[in-house]
Amino acid sequence: MTLNAGAINHSFTNTSRRTFIINLFCLVGVLFTAPLGILSLLKGNLLVGVSLLCIATIYTLNHLYLRKTNNYLFSANVILYPLYTLMLYLVYSGGVNGTGHVWIYCIPPVSLFLHGLKRGLLEVFIFILALVYILFFISSPFDQLGYHHDLKSRIVYSFILIAFLSTIYEYISSRFNQSLQELSSKLELAATTDPLTNLLNRRGLEQQLKNKAWYKPSIFLLDIDHFKSINDKYGHEYGDEYLKLVARSMTGFLVGRECLLSRWGGEEFLLVVDLQNDHEKFAESVRNLIENASLKFDESHEISATVSIGISELGATETFLMAVGRADKALYEAKSRGRNCVVAAK
Ligand code: GH3
Ligand code: MG
Ligand code: MG
Repeated sequence: MTLNAGAINHSFTNTSRRTFIINLFCLVGVLFTAPLGILSLLKGNLLVGVSLLCIATIYTLNHLYLRKTNNYLFSANVILYPLYTLMLYLVYSGGVNGTGHVWIYCIPPVSLFLHGLKRGLLEVFIFILALVYILFFISSPFDQLGYHHDLKSRIVYSFILIAFLSTIYEYISSRFNQSLQELSSKLELAATTDPLTNLLNRRGLEQQLKNKAWYKPSIFLLDIDHFKSINDKYGHEYGDEYLKLVARSMTGFLVGRECLLSRWGGEEFLLVVDLQNDHEKFAESVRNLIENASLKFDESHEISATVSIGISELGATETFLMAVGRADKALYEAKSRGRNCVVAAK
């Protein structure tokens, strides 16, 4: 959507909210200034007409720039600094029949929203100083018509009140947004991670597969042999501990390799590695690793097991799941050959 153009991701982050507002500002700005500019030119008011059309052009370019670069900080400046200048000029000149000051109240919310609490507040503070200076310390064109002293002080007081309320609103909304983001990352992690082994789960693996550039990925489907008997003999808890041990051993073995390891199901693990050749040798080392890993407990007891592995290489015209299907068939073959062995799919 046009209003989200330039946002790096479209979730509800501070950056995407700001990008949305900048695009909205540009759109509304163009919708206001372009027709008014054309109307002014038709009425023969060249200076106003050209100025308004210039603003419309700047806002259009700002939107295109943001769309191309995602640099919302620069685009926010393009909106804010001319806005500050325009508002101070309206107060100074009095605007149309002395109504210029009524527009300045848009400054605190826009400034705090686009520049955040710290910088936004600093700029609002500087704006208040400039406002006080224009109203009380210099003789402006509108002064001659008569800004009543009470009106001047009320303009400043009400502006400070709006700035205060905007600060509270921005503070609460940014805190709320922050906790929402933390919650969303926790949920994302929980949805893609296996809580027992801390490896990726099936969903996490499928998601990460898309984010990596693969050259020639090999798929290894591992299934622990006779795992049910471990549960039966030592209890489910020790079965869990053994699964964690397998996950730890494999993670340690794979350090420094471009690969993805996941817990594919109960006692099945799926490993994707970019291997140029010799994937059977690689699978043999994994099989060997698990055969030699053992879970020691009660000083004299230890649990060990073997693993069967099915391998497939992702074909050029094949989907990932099709290649997993072939690895699964190879795994089945490994089981029927007596387990504790490696079989490559045809
Ligand atoms: P095979 O060599 O044919 O693979 O035999 P197996 O006993 O490993 O295979 P089977 O599919 O019959 O049994 C798998 C067992 O894994 C059954 C199930 O209770 C156990 N299991 C699955 N998930 C978990 C888990 O998270 N923790 C524990 N402790 N056991 C699990
Ligand atoms: Mg199984
Ligand atoms: Mg098994």
